[in-house]
Amino acid sequence: MNLTIIGSGYVGLTTGTCFAEMGHHVICVDNNREKIRTLQSGSIPIYEPKLEDLIRKNVAVGRLEFSPDIASSIPQSDVIFIAVPTPPNTDGSVDLTYIEKVAREIAEVLKPEMGYKVIVDKSTVPVKTGEKVRQTIKRYAGPDVQFDIVSNPEFLREGCTVDDLLHPDRIVIGANSERAMNVIKRVYQPIHAPILETDVNSAELIKYAANSFLALKISYINAVAKVCEKTGADVELVAEGIGMDKRISRHFLNAGLGYGGSCFPKDVKAFINISRTLGIPFTLLEEVERINDSQHTHFLDQIRDRLWVLKDKKIAVWGLAFKQNTDDIRESISLKLCEKLRKEGAIVTATDPKAIGTARSRLEELGVTPVEDMYECARDAEVLIIATEWSDYANADLQKLAEIMRNRIIFDGRNILSPANIRAVGFEYHSVGRPFIE
Ligand code: NAD
Repeated sequence: MNLTIIGSGYVGLTTGTCFAEMGHHVICVDNNREKIRTLQSGSIPIYEPKLEDLIRKNVAVGRLEFSPDIASSIPQSDVIFIAVPTPPNTDGSVDLTYIEKVAREIAEVLKPEMGYKVIVDKSTVPVKTGEKVRQTIKRYAGPDVQFDIVSNPEFLREGCTVDDLLHPDRIVIGANSERAMNVIKRVYQPIHAPILETDVNSAELIKYAANSFLALKISYINAVAKVCEKTGADVELVAEGIGMDKRISRHFLNAGLGYGGSCFPKDVKAFINISRTLGIPFTLLEEVERINDSQHTHFLDQIRDRLWVLKDKKIAVWGLAFKQNTDDIRESISLKLCEKLRKEGAIVTATDPKAIGTARSRLEELGVTPVEDMYECARDAEVLIIATEWSDYANADLQKLAEIMRNRIIFDGRNILSPANIRAVGFEYHSVGRPFIE
């Protein structure tokens, strides 16, 4: 099938590439001309495991193309996917200006003689946005264009998008017409995964309900971690014990600095806002958000307790990306920690295997020194903070670290080091919800 993807960011570029891998002909469009030039020249603007090889392969066989505008791609496409940003407004509501603009742009190009098109929303949007997109396109394109709107929310996880897209747990397709539903089922036909067929409103709601539930699990275990800290229990064992129950599962029960990234914080906020607007305050999610916001400040309080005054103390931060295996720093908890440490006058160095480039300008603003090498980053530091769960950090050479740090003190915000290894080298070790090691 011929597909257009509007928006070639983390979601659009990866889904477009995987659709090409499934055998479709895909044109990934973006109005950021620089991004399109980069892609056309054979470079990849984001770091995502396995993506580069897949892009090169599919470009080489002519199944994947990049374009700065939709005027030429839409006429030749059966399906048009929208994957543009839906950032939060300051009041927590969703900024839908990108979606509305794309709807008008599609309407300008659509003509009755192009035949039937399916327009699919992949961006995360409030319930009933599909209906607004439909009305907008009808208003600008006129009554004779033939199209349907489908909601096909995306559940990929940055850091493993290719595997998630080619082997998803489920595919949710929300359509109000059988014709549109069948077209999208054909798009996904090469994928072996359960398909949940719903109406458009339900599909839109599934995405917020799913992300909010995952955020809830993280805040739940973080609240349990605080109880563990006060009682000497070990949150890792508690998580193991509750996660062995199939009804609960161990996934997303990792205590730490809390969730960040471009999705969970904004999606929880949006769901709170959507519910409040409907007159049904979702206070449970307000608490999820409050717990999450308190995780890194509580961690910082513990560092302050240990070092007393932070001013002029050298603190090293391992990890800038909001999670491992990505260069994405949107809503990164690490950067929030860096900001707070700098406000108190600490001398901060920071490193990341992939995200130094994306974080560089923010680090400059904050006065944080980026260091490529993780051990050099920690040289002469009074405290090392682990803020992202990269495997390089989990497998760090602790003996080497002990030799170059000023104090042997680690604050592990992701619980990735093994207490046994820490004890063997003789570090003071603080983690989240686990007994303190002296
Ligand atoms: P992104 O910022 O990485 O990419 C969006 C792209 O859209 C950018 O490249 C931007 O230049 C482009 N764009 C904006 N307006 C455009 C227009 N009018 N025409 C063409 N291109 C345009 O964002 P993302 O992370 O890919 O997220 C996109 C959507 O998917 C959001 O709604 C997000 O909530 C949702 N989502 C994201 C993830 C994730 O892990 N990143 C997962 C699931 C769903």
